Amino acid sequence: MRIVSVPCLSDNFAYLVTCPTTGATAVVDPGEPGPIEAALAAAGLTPTAIWATHHHPDHVGGVAGLAARFPGVAVIGHASDAARIAGLTRGVVAGDRVELGSLTATIIENPGHTSGAISYLIDADGEAAVFTGDTLFGAGCGRMFEGTPPQMHASLARLAALPPATRVYFGHEYTAANLRFAAAVEPGNPAIAARAAAIDAARPTTPSTIADERATNPFLRVAEPAVRAAAVAFDATVDPADGAAVFGAIRRWKDGFRG
Ligand SMILES: [Zn+2]
Repeated sequence: MRIVSVPCLSDNFAYLVTCPTTGATAVVDPGEPGPIEAALAAAGLTPTAIWATHHHPDHVGGVAGLAARFPGVAVIGHASDAARIAGLTRGVVAGDRVELGSLTATIIENPGHTSGAISYLIDADGEAAVFTGDTLFGAGCGRMFEGTPPQMHASLARLAALPPATRVYFGHEYTAANLRFAAAVEPGNPAIAARAAAIDAARPTTPSTIADERATNPFLRVAEPAVRAAAVAFDATVDPADGAAVFGAIRRWKDGFRG
């Protein structure tokens, strides 16, 4: 598969995913139409589908413009977001398969950032990629606007269980700031310092891998003794044996973190 990242708005990423056999192309999370149309023209591609990870305007703001410019394009998002994603042509749920030429994306539900948040997982000849929107970021995760800590914790655990080499294409360039928070949670984790040094010279930081995230992302590491201890130090009422409670404390800490 071919994947092109397209910066949109101030720090969003859209992606073009193309089947190498048929040229069928999906646009993931078009926050605005202009940069997408430019990237499509530069690559000589016509989109056959738009894949929305969730309903927020900075991820679907370009849907109407692209649908007008490319009549007949399929617009895919979670079934529960039919009233929140204008122009949706197909609502999907967990386990649904979305064809793109010879590629197939499987839908993973990950409620928490929004109730209808989904990821698209493509496994093509052992080369896997997952588009996670605002659920899983480089070294971080989205805020819980429409979910609970147990929901978001379970959603992230589902993504963390993907094969380690799976490439993670996330929705915002937040990795550097996220790593500053990760270092505050786990000052003794050398993988966090190494990743921060590595991205100093690299923009964009997308994609990462599930292995990168498991090694450095505090929100996937709530079973680690150091992360549990940090959560209890932040909020002494947290039961360190309760993964969702540890997750919730780390998320609240990050919400107020200015690093
Ligand atoms: Zn969002």
